[in-house]
Amino acid sequence: MSGLGKLRVAVIGAGAAGLCAARHLLSRPDTFAPPVVYELTKNIGGTWVYEERVGFYDNGLPIHSSMYRDLRTNIPKEVMSFPDFPFAKHLPSFVHHTEVRKYLEQYCDHFRLWDHIQFGTSVASVTPEDVKGGWNGLAWNVNSNNSVDHSKSTTERFDAVMVCNGHFYDPYIPPIPGLEKFKGTLMHSHDYRTAEPFAGKSVVLLGAGLSGLDIAMELSNVEAQVILSHGQQPLTCPLPPGVQQAPPVTSVLDDGTLEFKNGERTKPEVFLFCTGYNFTFPFLDKKVGVKVQEHLVWPLYKFLIPPAYPSLFIVGICRAICPFPHFHIQSQFMLSVLDGSFRLPSREEMEKDIELDIAARRARGISTRHILKLDSEQWAYNDELARLGGFKPLPCYWSNLYESNKVFRARDMLNYKTYNYSVLDNMEWKVHDLHGQQ
Ligand code: FAD
Repeated sequence: MSGLGKLRVAVIGAGAAGLCAARHLLSRPDTFAPPVVYELTKNIGGTWVYEERVGFYDNGLPIHSSMYRDLRTNIPKEVMSFPDFPFAKHLPSFVHHTEVRKYLEQYCDHFRLWDHIQFGTSVASVTPEDVKGGWNGLAWNVNSNNSVDHSKSTTERFDAVMVCNGHFYDPYIPPIPGLEKFKGTLMHSHDYRTAEPFAGKSVVLLGAGLSGLDIAMELSNVEAQVILSHGQQPLTCPLPPGVQQAPPVTSVLDDGTLEFKNGERTKPEVFLFCTGYNFTFPFLDKKVGVKVQEHLVWPLYKFLIPPAYPSLFIVGICRAICPFPHFHIQSQFMLSVLDGSFRLPSREEMEKDIELDIAARRARGISTRHILKLDSEQWAYNDELARLGGFKPLPCYWSNLYESNKVFRARDMLNYKTYNYSVLDNMEWKVHDLHGQQ
């Protein structure tokens, strides 16, 4: 606790999740001391800080952002925004990534977050310590160093830690027998920046998630011949010119030829993986016991809290969600846990809850790697956290528009970003309604 008996909270990362956590902590000066937000780069925004380079920053750390030059958002700004801070009115619904970065900077201005961010500071370790009188008998030692020259190692003690380090930077490449024999250009979408280098080339693009589809469209615009290889049901919407579908690649033959699940073969110039990312928490003390197995981070109560260390929060790990509103809900829930307005169940009860939840998902045929994929269940999840934490849920406008956009996107991937939802006036009052909320 701070000298005044207020809770001291560390936030790791100044991407959208970390900024949102800081905004809510600052809104409660009665209970929380101003947070310390650690950010290893020199900027806020994380994913939304476009970096032309690939590989490493000058300081030797790996480039964090997977942003590409021409990306426009895949969620309309009307529901992509934090519910208490709309995007500028004049913008179209699907904005260029530079507008999202500007938006996050405006969020920092509006909620006066800048002074609380320690830029160029990399968190090296987060260690719990038993402390009499600490929150739940615990405190956290956060060790950080200067991310430019790795000097000035300092350790600060906190009552709680919110881990917001992002989950789209450590490329996941599925194991494909013989992959090392591929002779062309092998890359992951983390390193994709622009379509021009692929002009006229033959490309096998593995993965038909949002990035895979978006990049396939960009490649089509430069007349690449793209085979979109994936394990889902074949897409039925119109595809861009030059893009055809294939089942997953199952192996690479001795001469570098790719073989698909149906036995067909091809030898492309480029093999591009749009296969997602690994979760990593390199700074987290092993004794905390948070494990990553087959893309599942566990055990976490409500996908957020390790039962044995309930003053630690792993924020934003759920997938196929509407991220900013999700962070807004998780942030308020974390505060309700820390200020005691929501009394957490016992450790054993939380462990049981996690076990039952995972078992129920498995019983519905959801494999381990997809357990964190909430998709349409995100709305019930958000509502549950709001109910438990005793704060305002999201208006149904959020789920309605988000889900409608998903349907339009699946039907018409070529044109859905041309829709403009800002003409829908009736959302306006709902946003303002929320604006008054703390
Ligand atoms: P990040 O933005 O990754 O931020 C994490 C921050 O933590 C970074 O600034 C990083 O430097 C810092 N950090 C990491 N480790 C440390 C450490 N040890 N010490 C200190 N700091 C550290 N979402 C949408 O809503 N709409 C979209 O259209 C959309 N498109 C996307 C397109 C792409 C290509 C990608 C990759 C993602 C997209 N997303 C989209 C999801 C997007 O990632 C989230 O919206 C959101 O920005 C994630 O925020 P975050 O704070 O969790 O992570």
